[in-house]
Amino acid sequence: MSKITLAEAAQILNNNDRFVLATHIHPDGDAIGSTLALMHALKKAGKQVEVYIDDKAPRIFSFLPGYELIKRPPENLPSAKLTADRLVILDANIDRISRVKDMTDAKVLNIDHHISNDEAADELYLDADRAAAAEIVYEVIKEMGVAFDSDIAVCLYTGIATDSGFFRYASTKPFTMRAAAELMEYDVKPNIVSEATEEKSFATVKGMAAALSTVELFAAGKAAGIFLDLPLVETLETTEGFIDNVRIIEGVDTAVMVKCQEANVCRVSMRSKRLDVAKIAVKFGGGGHIRAAGCTLNMPFAEAKRVIVAELTEALAALYRQ
Ligand code: AMP
Ligand code: MN
Ligand code: MN
Repeated sequence: MSKITLAEAAQILNNNDRFVLATHIHPDGDAIGSTLALMHALKKAGKQVEVYIDDKAPRIFSFLPGYELIKRPPENLPSAKLTADRLVILDANIDRISRVKDMTDAKVLNIDHHISNDEAADELYLDADRAAAAEIVYEVIKEMGVAFDSDIAVCLYTGIATDSGFFRYASTKPFTMRAAAELMEYDVKPNIVSEATEEKSFATVKGMAAALSTVELFAAGKAAGIFLDLPLVETLETTEGFIDNVRIIEGVDTAVMVKCQEANVCRVSMRSKRLDVAKIAVKFGGGGHIRAAGCTLNMPFAEAKRVIVAELTEALAALYRQ
């Protein structure tokens, strides 16, 4: 592994010709926005680019130009590998792109903003102070000397807006606002982006009501959780944004959602005001940011709930004892 500078990352992109781009499973607006923006910029610079995500790309992102070009690895991977000069991984480290890493033997260039990045890539440009990977891609594209256009701009804006909670989270800096303002000059409509990315089906809104009705306070009121068992999860199209209705509870530092995806596989999402939830996520093999992190617990739902409630109760007691 070697850590590289922004200028070196831009140089690698400018000096090579064939790229496979990939991002994390359960792709969010930053994953898809930063990846598609870099795809557009590389194509504009005359490069060959393919984008692979080993998961469904949620329909709410279908308004992004280039969405239809995202490929999913086939169930049985072909034995012939994709030839490329670089596999570029955005908004994640290698282990979160799932089977895309088996599709090519190309050298890995990783561009990320997660403090928990495992630094396993051949070349890593990491800036954990950036609110979104799309902020870094904004800088990289400038450094490459590729001019912004409306396709690049809407993808970058979507990544930045969604990962910063539409400019509300602590990660939002003057840089975030300046980048977004500049991108708006290329015909980005913030209302279109928020309307598209926040859209939920009627069934999902009904499901959200059921999910929210599981809310519990614990850790002496410093934490609140929603706990979604498999039968409930099976009725839901998405759980995106559910946790935002939990972290607003008065007195709550940390919000958690435990979601049973299949027997013995539970996804945990955490959001906090003070507690370092990345540290907790990493302890369980996951990762993220200080105030937004996640992990997967391979255990039955009741046990996952018990484990995460105990861990957060202890961490919050220690934090608020200080
Ligand atoms: P989520 O709760 O899924 O929205 O994730 C919150 C943040 O933590 C995002 O930045 C994710 O990319 C990150 N994250 C979630 N799950 C994991 C994981 N298993 N490994 C590393 N990072 C994760
Ligand atoms: Mn992401
Ligand atoms: Mn991100």
